[in-house]
Amino acid sequence: MTTAGSYDAVVIGGGHNGLVAALYLARAGWSVAVLERNATVGGAIASGEATLPGFVHDLYSTNQNLFLGSRTYADFGSDLSRHGLRFRTTDHPYANVFPDGLSMRVHSDYERTLGQLAQHDSGDAEGFAGLYQQYRQFAPYLFGLYGSAVPSSAAVRQVLDLLRHHGLRGARELTHTLLMSTRELGTTWFATREAQAMAACWGMHLDFGPDVAGGAMFPLLEMFADMENGMSVVEGGAQRLPQALAAVLAELGGEVRTGAEVDRVLCSNGRAVGVRCVDGSTLTARRAVIANVGPPALYQRLLECEQVPAQVRRASRGYLYGPGTMMLHLALEGPLPWAAGSGLADFGYVHVAPYVDDLARTYTESQAGLLPTEPLLIVGQTSAVDPTRAPAGHHVVWIQIRTMPSVIRGDAAGAIPHTGWPEAVEPMTDRVLAKLEQYAPGSGSRIVRATAYTPQDLESADPNLVGGDSVAGSHHLSQNFFFRPMSGHSGYRTAVPGLYLTGAATWPGAGNNATSGRLTARQVLKDVRLRGGSWAARKRRHP
Ligand SMILES: Cc1cc2nc3c(=O)[nH]c(=O)nc-3n(C[C@H](O)[C@H](O)[C@H](O)COP(=O)(O)OP(=O)(O)OC[C@H]3O[C@@H](n4cnc5c(N)ncnc54)[C@H](O)[C@@H]3O)c2cc1C
Repeated sequence: MTTAGSYDAVVIGGGHNGLVAALYLARAGWSVAVLERNATVGGAIASGEATLPGFVHDLYSTNQNLFLGSRTYADFGSDLSRHGLRFRTTDHPYANVFPDGLSMRVHSDYERTLGQLAQHDSGDAEGFAGLYQQYRQFAPYLFGLYGSAVPSSAAVRQVLDLLRHHGLRGARELTHTLLMSTRELGTTWFATREAQAMAACWGMHLDFGPDVAGGAMFPLLEMFADMENGMSVVEGGAQRLPQALAAVLAELGGEVRTGAEVDRVLCSNGRAVGVRCVDGSTLTARRAVIANVGPPALYQRLLECEQVPAQVRRASRGYLYGPGTMMLHLALEGPLPWAAGSGLADFGYVHVAPYVDDLARTYTESQAGLLPTEPLLIVGQTSAVDPTRAPAGHHVVWIQIRTMPSVIRGDAAGAIPHTGWPEAVEPMTDRVLAKLEQYAPGSGSRIVRATAYTPQDLESADPNLVGGDSVAGSHHLSQNFFFRPMSGHSGYRTAVPGLYLTGAATWPGAGNNATSGRLTARQVLKDVRLRGGSWAARKRRHP
């Protein structure tokens, strides 16, 4: 075994959360190394010429609104922009399309959005206005909670502030909404099945089929935050975001090593003291090891069995992953020719479902291992937001296909006989493109090249996306808030002193929010201060 260095902290995994945790520690004066198994940092934030030279696709995540709204961006935004990080934003954030050329469009211009909804049905416009009012009332507390460790005194403060300003009645109203499924949210607020579908589609970005309790929170936040802020992507490709994080980290003295896969967290006297890489080299961590992975990887693979209490190991086996995702990247010679009108090609996202019942069937089918008949297409029109992504007159389109079985047991439509993803990917791509053709007739003839990534491909690219679960673990109520990542193990400490868990598997979960990385670093620094305090006290007592 060769020793490859000694640091205050070693971070396993260079996803944006791992990098952000390292950044805050480096800013506090710590020596830090980030070890990333891939050739590039960023995990699920990556971009590349997935179809043809000159066409830059966001390979996985694309919408950077959460990052832009994060405390980390507030803290490091000017440093990141010095390293070339820029964003492009559209004021046409999202829309839904329906049969017969119908669409629902949400613009950053609230009055315009409301006017269009009213043209469709006055009940939808009234509902949208009512729900927006609720969002405006409660968003500060929800975002406050989203940016705080849970449980923590900061989280309690959010709840107390909510009670102070809105009383028990307000707290009851908000809790009622948050416990709703997306179907319940839609039928409570909207008159037509089109508007109801608009809300439910947002739940499917996470792992909330329309009938899962607790699904309403994400649509409540995304529908209105995206309306208010527009939708943003990284200029030139998502990869520039983690690259800029790594560049700022390097300026602060931090080190990033790519092609460095960790296979063991080293412990001594029950405490994490370093890591071993697959090439046998070891790194010493004097103060903390931070793992940007999921609980099963940490407790079942990275740690020796005897380091993990049996109950924790058992709990990690029960960590639930959501259904899979398939990605389809298109290089187009022209915008998508939407039946609902050419203006639709300007929107950041177009949801093609069409209705809540279709989403419910899709969710159930994929959970049962069946290729869904009518999967949801989240069509990201990346080059409409950032024209630098494709040659003039051409476009890149990002389609997230939700939800998919991780392991195929059959086909709900009875047409695809394959149960292996390598064979099923082509006919499934044909099904997706046929659906797109229904809503954007002539789109097929504009496709110059298509590249599909199966749920298996996603997991191969980033082992945190187990089974192609794009959200790194279910966000259902039993595994969210103070049950994330596991009941009794919320927060960022682990069962092993000196070892911390960060990333989408921890609160506040998936998304490019950078929050978990920041909160993990804060926990680490706090623990070291506390230990320092108790050591100092012990030293005073026993000089
Ligand atoms: C298809 C898709 C679409 C998405 N769309 C959006 C979106 O539009 N907007 C949004 O906000 N969010 C989106 N998300 C979610 C978001 O991208 C993720 O939640 C987020 O990137 C997670 O970041 P992370 O730092 O926690 O971990 P990850 O991004 O998963 O990074 C973890 C890193 O750790 C590395 N690693 C793991 N194990 C080891 C090891 N043993 N040794 C060394 N390295 C290791 C991995 O290679 C990886 O690079 C999407 C996700 C996917 C998959």
